[in-house]
Amino acid sequence: MSIHTLAPEAGKDYPRNWSEFLERFVSEQACLDYLEWLRWPRGFVCPRCGVAAEPYRSSRGRLMCASCSVQSTVTAGTIFEKTRTPLRVWLAAAWYVTNQKHGVSALGLQRVLGLGSYQTAWTMLHRLRRAMVRPERERLHGIVEVDETYLAISDRIQPVARGRGKGRKSQTHQTHVVIAVELLEPKGFGRLRLQRINNASAEQLIPFVLANVEPGSQVRTDGSAAYRDLADLGYVRHRTVHLGSDVPAHVSMVGVHRVAALVKRWVLGTHQGAVQPGHLDAYLDEFVFRFNRRTSRSRGLLFYRLLEQAVVTDPLTYRDVVDKLPRATATA
Ligand SMILES: [Zn+2]
Repeated sequence: MSIHTLAPEAGKDYPRNWSEFLERFVSEQACLDYLEWLRWPRGFVCPRCGVAAEPYRSSRGRLMCASCSVQSTVTAGTIFEKTRTPLRVWLAAAWYVTNQKHGVSALGLQRVLGLGSYQTAWTMLHRLRRAMVRPERERLHGIVEVDETYLAISDRIQPVARGRGKGRKSQTHQTHVVIAVELLEPKGFGRLRLQRINNASAEQLIPFVLANVEPGSQVRTDGSAAYRDLADLGYVRHRTVHLGSDVPAHVSMVGVHRVAALVKRWVLGTHQGAVQPGHLDAYLDEFVFRFNRRTSRSRGLLFYRLLEQAVVTDPLTYRDVVDKLPRATATA
């Protein structure tokens, strides 16, 4: 844990608004200094030998460990590794993504930052999304509603990038998404988790609950047999029966229905439904990042949280993103 995670100060640890952003990030060096401070709040630590000592600095931003002489950079091993895009543009992208209430599409980002290619904007967004999930995040607890929904997404490529997918007919995919959301008492929602699943079987749903909900929690589900084993796994299962019940589903499972509606609106609005099924989880992570910080009073704090995570998240190249994901397949 870094020392500056507890109570970052507005205006000091992060810019409060766009004008402070411009004042602070006047040069590439200013951006590098900021990222260095985020990455090593107590001072440089060698990524190879782990020795914490002030490194030798070359004029080109290289850092050389005083102990083992290995050379590195502030951005090596982060989402900014080997990027040809200036850091000022990266930080502006992070600012824009966190300051727009509903995020931004790759096309929108390309336009607002004046980026040369759609692909650059798309890759930046994907790398930023990767930094939106904290690996050590706590599981949901208390009262948690869990349910599945369908999301209709199209593998259509956005207009400007159309050249790449020439002649290809777009398809609409009905993808299954599982939702888990904390219910607060007396009212309101807590934190959220979303994940794409292949189907609504126990094999898909139980591992999701285990990974995302603390045992001992009360898990509210529909009557599906897929959730039957939850009780044996240490959860208190509360069944909400839809079929034959006098209470409509959207009343009895208010959290998941609200979230499902918001996710659908976001995918159709910000992204015009154009999300490749193989990339859906990354989009869902972005939605969760924003949802779980929706009460944050300061947008600058979201920018800070995103960058704080970005400097400890592995890089991902455009080819990594495209190649490593399963090819889009129609899912029923
Ligand atoms: Zn070293």
